[in-house]
Amino acid sequence: MCDTFIALSDATLDGSIIFGKNSDRPYSEIQNITYYPHKEYKESEVQCTYIKIPQVENTNAVLLSQPLWMFGAEMGVNEHGVVIGNEAVWTREPLGPPTLLGMDILRLALERSRNAEQALKESIRLLEEYGQGGPCAENDSSLDYHNSYLIADQSEAWVLETAGKWWVAERVKSSTRNISNSLSIRTQFDLAADGLVDYALEKGLYQSSIDFDFAKSFGLHWREPSSFSREGIGQIMMQKEAGGITPLTMMHVLRSCESGICMHGGFRSTASMVSQLFSSKPDIHWMTGTPYPCKSLYKPIAFPPGNLEAYQPATRNQNQKSIWWAHEMISDTKKIEFPSWKEYQEDLFLKMKEVDVGQYQDITKQAFTTEQEKYSTLLNNNH
Ligand SMILES: [Zn+2]
Repeated sequence: MCDTFIALSDATLDGSIIFGKNSDRPYSEIQNITYYPHKEYKESEVQCTYIKIPQVENTNAVLLSQPLWMFGAEMGVNEHGVVIGNEAVWTREPLGPPTLLGMDILRLALERSRNAEQALKESIRLLEEYGQGGPCAENDSSLDYHNSYLIADQSEAWVLETAGKWWVAERVKSSTRNISNSLSIRTQFDLAADGLVDYALEKGLYQSSIDFDFAKSFGLHWREPSSFSREGIGQIMMQKEAGGITPLTMMHVLRSCESGICMHGGFRSTASMVSQLFSSKPDIHWMTGTPYPCKSLYKPIAFPPGNLEAYQPATRNQNQKSIWWAHEMISDTKKIEFPSWKEYQEDLFLKMKEVDVGQYQDITKQAFTTEQEKYSTLLNNNH
């Protein structure tokens, strides 16, 4: 389960493009913020989660929100300002044997593209060549799904939806768009797999007397989106703010627990990310690195994120020096009143607006350090 959002320049307050995603994953899965610098390769292959594929000569620097056990990532961005989030979708096409995961495709596309269109094309190429499949959770082979993607850069955004090796893509033309675990591209799309409509007709997924509808034809138990679903509520929340959307607005939507967008339960919002993409200055990525956006601080990170040494990724062993574990220890303990980050979040947002680009790394470091110190204090007071 996940929710992914995009606000194009006509929907934001300052003309930037703003992306947001909550990654909803199995409760016990750890998701870290990871950074892989630009790299040149001598190796001929890259080991993905389940298969090896040919490696490219160079990969872009990428900043990811990455489940601990997986090659791929739930969301991420590269040094050229290409951002991608994926969604699980269930379709009438059979689930294939282990090959690339949707999350692998997401990371590979970020490593290999300089803009959203290239990332879209690379995702499609990988899908057509290798297909998609394999368990999407570490110890649960029943969690298996196809994928949809929201891909954006500083000038445009695309929704790519897939069913097995079949796909369609829609260029987001204006305002806002969101995807939420369901095929959403209907009769209007800009690109499609060769032979898609013939295949659907042959399989009896639709009748030629009506317009070809991708979601209706390929979606498993597909229904018209309801205004009470996460998809519907997300769309309404975004549209209400269209024209004035800032990263704080996006965080507000992602922190909405009543709608289920901020998910609590056996599947929970394990990590969250908001990216603000600019054409004239470095992009700023706001990442939680902790579960429950409603209880989390989004820390600003820009490329190159040198001072990420203030952040300690979680390992499988509980260790309160990592914000993941410290946050877990606090948010699971009812005795402690969880800190409200509202004021500090706004403060960080203003700081990032005011300071020179050269000071970004200092603010990143301050934000991670402040969070860690706050958790340490809370944990020590509890003993
Ligand atoms: Zn919540």
